[in-house]
Amino acid sequence: MSKILILVVEDDAPVRNLITTTLKAHDYRYIAAATGEGAVMETASHNPDIVLLDLGLPDLDGVEVIRRIRTWSNVPILVISARSEDTDKIDALDAGADDYLTKPFSVEELLARLRVTQRRLALMQGSNPQPSVFVNGQLKIDYASGCAFLGGEELHLTPIEYKLLCLLARNMGKVLTHKYITQSVWGSSWENDVASLRVFMATLRKKLEGPPGSPQYIQTHIGIGYRMVKIE
Ligand code: CA
Repeated sequence: MSKILILVVEDDAPVRNLITTTLKAHDYRYIAAATGEGAVMETASHNPDIVLLDLGLPDLDGVEVIRRIRTWSNVPILVISARSEDTDKIDALDAGADDYLTKPFSVEELLARLRVTQRRLALMQGSNPQPSVFVNGQLKIDYASGCAFLGGEELHLTPIEYKLLCLLARNMGKVLTHKYITQSVWGSSWENDVASLRVFMATLRKKLEGPPGSPQYIQTHIGIGYRMVKIE
């Protein structure tokens, strides 16, 4: 199996070195860029498997870099941002980023996110992109019949809960923003109704809860959105 190639985009040299050293130590191949223009160019010429993108770059806005890359590529993009840049993070996810890391982050955190992204990459490259049955751990969705099951038991979901579950399932591994979810499920007029979304998510999660100690299928990203986690 060929090694995963990662493009590291970071203008801060010490942070860039920390990341590339970590990647090297864990058997990843990497290339690096220090500017937004450089990021777009490297993505086009080297076709990396994953892009690690710092949002605060000297020339182009990181969100603009994502928009440009997304005009031709679906490469998973993991954004790196400072704690103060929450809005940028949301804009980045809305522009097509897959996940984010907040600075300062640990090496373990970086590696964990890369593993999540690699699993998502493997799913994207799967032979059947639109399977009629979704399975994750004890959770099963039969899209054709419109039914969902947990451990073989049918889940009694409202139409909105079912739509939410399918949206998260189809994007497993990816963080979906509140705005993206409300737009997809209700249309644009609901865009800012995060309070209602929280209520529906709470009832959905309750129904997805198994016995104590069971895995959590849906992860909350406070102030940002939700993600369906792949159960090992
Ligand atoms: Ca920076």
